[in-house]
Amino acid sequence: MTLARRMNRRTFLSETGKTLVASWTAVAAASVEPSIAESPANVSSGSRQVLVLGAGLAGLAAAYELKKAGYGVTVLEARTRPGGRVLTYRDPFADGLYAEMGAEYVDSTDEYDHRFCQELGLKVMTAKLYDAIFVRGQRFKMASFKQNKEKLPYAGTEGGRLFGQEAAYLRRLLALIADPEKLPPEILKLDNLSVVELLLQEGAPQDIIALYTYTQATESTARPPEMSALHMVRSHRRSFSEDTDEGRILGGNDQLPKALARSLSGQVLYNRPVRRIAHDPEGAEVFFEEGGLLRSLRTPRLVVAIPFKVLRDIEVAPSFSPAKTKCIATLAYGHVMKIAMQYERRFWDEPDSLGQRVFTDTMLRRVYHFSVDQPGPRGILMSFTSGADAEALGWLTEAERLRVAVQEATKIWPEAPRHFEGGAVKYWNEDPWIRGSYSFEGVGQARDYLQIAAAPEGRVHFAGEHTSIHRASMNGALESGVRVAAEVQKAEGA
Ligand SMILES: Cc1cc2nc3c(=O)[nH]c(=O)nc-3n(C[C@H](O)[C@H](O)[C@H](O)COP(=O)(O)OP(=O)(O)OC[C@H]3O[C@@H](n4cnc5c(N)ncnc54)[C@H](O)[C@@H]3O)c2cc1C
Repeated sequence: MTLARRMNRRTFLSETGKTLVASWTAVAAASVEPSIAESPANVSSGSRQVLVLGAGLAGLAAAYELKKAGYGVTVLEARTRPGGRVLTYRDPFADGLYAEMGAEYVDSTDEYDHRFCQELGLKVMTAKLYDAIFVRGQRFKMASFKQNKEKLPYAGTEGGRLFGQEAAYLRRLLALIADPEKLPPEILKLDNLSVVELLLQEGAPQDIIALYTYTQATESTARPPEMSALHMVRSHRRSFSEDTDEGRILGGNDQLPKALARSLSGQVLYNRPVRRIAHDPEGAEVFFEEGGLLRSLRTPRLVVAIPFKVLRDIEVAPSFSPAKTKCIATLAYGHVMKIAMQYERRFWDEPDSLGQRVFTDTMLRRVYHFSVDQPGPRGILMSFTSGADAEALGWLTEAERLRVAVQEATKIWPEAPRHFEGGAVKYWNEDPWIRGSYSFEGVGQARDYLQIAAAPEGRVHFAGEHTSIHRASMNGALESGVRVAAEVQKAEGA
């Protein structure tokens, strides 16, 4: 498909028809006829129209599904690339190495990831690594740790287990749950407590909370005092653990959003940050920046697939319902940083190495061999760090972040500094189009926030990982896009 043509305003209006009407609010040079950079391709004036905000996986999946169903779609995206939090860095590295600086793992149970990859001709590879643990200065190889039921240096823990140690302190409450779909009031009210408050109430030692910080809270990119106790109890059986089977898209996850965006061709308009949404019973008008001007598009149906952390600063008129407005303003997002370190040698694969993927209480939190599908001898060691550690590193310059990362890696692999060549850092909290990692269920947010986040407001529909039962994942973002596309069609009586 060709990229969009440049056209003048009159041509644009006549070609896009009456349903999606462009109007201009000139903020400068009012007498100059502004040119329109891109227009929805192949949209006949009679077809049904949907405007989608955000070209992350959620917005792209929604647009892709709606296009398949015969809708004319236009996507507005603030960045100059598709994919949002799916971001593969290639250029900073030698020898064709690449690194996922955002979403990485595709679980074997992530049905939407697998479905879209299959449909778009992408392969998912499994990335099983030799695991290890490095906490409080002690080293454990995962296989022997489990087999010999070794004990972690944390009070109140069971031997041979890393993730899920908090479960022993939740037994009384878990016994009250007969049907996970119908939680009793005693369980629902746990939403008013934090993970820390509940664990202390149930007699867990501080060490259990400390360990939770490096296991489940790291995965959620949150801090235990901010996380809902209801979330912990409810998600406890299906949480990430050292046993989770992980994979990745062979050759880089960015191929998935790029393939979706290609299939939409000129219908994705980049570098168009949305600033204002006005909605009414007939549809919505969206105001966005384009070449220094504020432009608006009117649409009969709007899909908002922008993270709530950003949406809270976009003017909405009239305001959405009080519940939605509160949810947008307060939904919790975590802190996350990924640090990709290029080393000339893969010392982590050598016989004396502790492991290829190490769960630690150092500032690196989880550090692992990234470049498993790429030939050596060079390789990338990746750190996924979150919560307070990501925030602390966020105060440093990029060079200092890398220096600390190598220093921390040296505690696990003493030879690290000798082989370090350089690296790249992505701190998502300083990215203006997300300002955080992903959503999590904060205190008071695990009961009804998900339903509120996903509910439409008149002709405005909502997608994004934060609206999905599979939140905080690519799978959830895709699921929300599919769900919202069906919701739009149902609302249109299709
Ligand atoms: C470090 C990190 C690691 C992760 N690891 C994994 C993992 O291993 N596995 C996994 O499945 N998931 C992982 N995730 C989560 C996954 O990346 C997200 O859940 C998913 O990509 C979110 O997609 P989305 O479309 O909902 O949001 P986004 O990807 O954030 O897309 C939203 C889009 O809206 C755009 N936008 C924002 N504001 C505006 C505006 N004003 N105007 C126009 N456009 C705007 C943004 O630029 C963006 O493109 C990780 C995320 C991070 C940050």
